[in-house]
This record gives sequence, C-alpha cells and structure tokens, in this order.
Amino acid sequence: MFNIVIFGAPGSGKGTQSDKIIERYGFMHVSSGELLRDHIAHDTQFGRIADSYISQGMLIPDELMIRILIDHLDANADRIKNGLILDGFPRTVNQAIEFDSGIDDHQISVDAVIGLEANDEELVKRLLKRGIDSGRTDDNLEVIQRRLKVYHDQTAPLRDYYLERGLYCPINGEGSVDDIFAAITRELDVRLMRKNANK
Ligand code: AMP
Repeated sequence: MFNIVIFGAPGSGKGTQSDKIIERYGFMHVSSGELLRDHIAHDTQFGRIADSYISQGMLIPDELMIRILIDHLDANADRIKNGLILDGFPRTVNQAIEFDSGIDDHQISVDAVIGLEANDEELVKRLLKRGIDSGRTDDNLEVIQRRLKVYHDQTAPLRDYYLERGLYCPINGEGSVDDIFAAITRELDVRLMRKNANK
C-alpha cells in the first residue's frame, strides 16, 4: 500500500493531477472537498454545517472533517488497500497529526506528499476562470481571496511538517498539465521503487 497526499493552494491543480495519478497508478481518490460537497448535495446534517463554512471560504472544524473522512474510509475499506490519494486533506497540522496517529481502525501511513507550488496571482486567475463553469459557491473573488489567506495561515505550515519528515516533494505547479504530471511521476516512481525495495 502506497499513500500520497496531494498538497497545494486552491487552484494549484490538485484535482486535475489527482485524476492523472489515479489513471496511472490506480490509487483510490479521496477528495475532502468532494466528500463535503456530496454531503451538502444530499442535505445531510454534516452537509448543512459544512456549507456554512465552505460558502465563507473557511475550513470546517477538524473534528467534523475527520469524522466525515473516517465514515468514508470505513465504507470503502476494501478499495483503500491498493493505496490512496488524499486530495485536500490534511489542511491543518492538527489534521495531519490526528491522521498520522491512526484514525479509528485505519492505520494509513503517508509515503509521499506532492506539493504543487504556484503564486497567488496565477491561482486567482485560474479559480476565477474555473468559477465560470464550476457553479461552486466558493469560486468568486471575495471567497477566493479568503481561501488563499486561510491556506497561507492554516495549511501552508504543513509544508514544513512534511519536509521535516522527508516526505515533501516540491513540484512547480505553473507549467503545462503534462509537464507537471511528468515531474510528479518522476518523484513517485523513485519513491515507489524505494518502498518496494525495502519490503
Ligand atoms: P476543495 O474542494 O479542496 O477546494 O475544498 C473546498 C472547501 O471545503 C474548502 O475551502 C473548505 O471550506 C472545505 N474543506 C475541504 N477540505 C477540508 C479540510 N481538510 N479541512 C477543513 N475544511 C476543508
């Protein structure tokens, strides 16, 4: 089992690159944003709480996020055996610590963190463009700016958390989709090979 976190600011290309990674390596995709939007679409109790944070560009509370993630992992216990790609989770150091200490019955170690790095100006441009067709309530300028601030304040510190653990792979997130993917596969192939050699 090989597990990856795909990490980066909103608009850094996590969803696009996750799709390509899954196609090549067959990992199961777990997007925390999609899980939350699914709860909102089904008007669940969790969804109603999450909506009030998401529409403001704020992070939902760690305990709620972890609860939703555990429920999803429980429901997909068979599929996660081949490896996971976590997209949008963790988003706080606290979430990473909780996850690393093993959530519920799931002992999932992180093997690599793919960090997509791009500057804010480029991110705002991409998110505004995405907002035209995404229909997402949080892809408008005011909320985008809040999401970027939240990213810098609460999520960016995770970069150091994973650097210290030797897991962080910085990737220039400003090139073409294919060039970025090629850089990701170089990192992943080396790390996968190393993990298999140590088995
Ligand atoms: P995303 O689709 O990853 O851009 O996430 C959309 C929104 O969902 C974020 O702006 C947050 O409000 C919420 N969200 C997603 N993942 C998390 C997380 N790990 N922790 C807290 N809130 C999250």
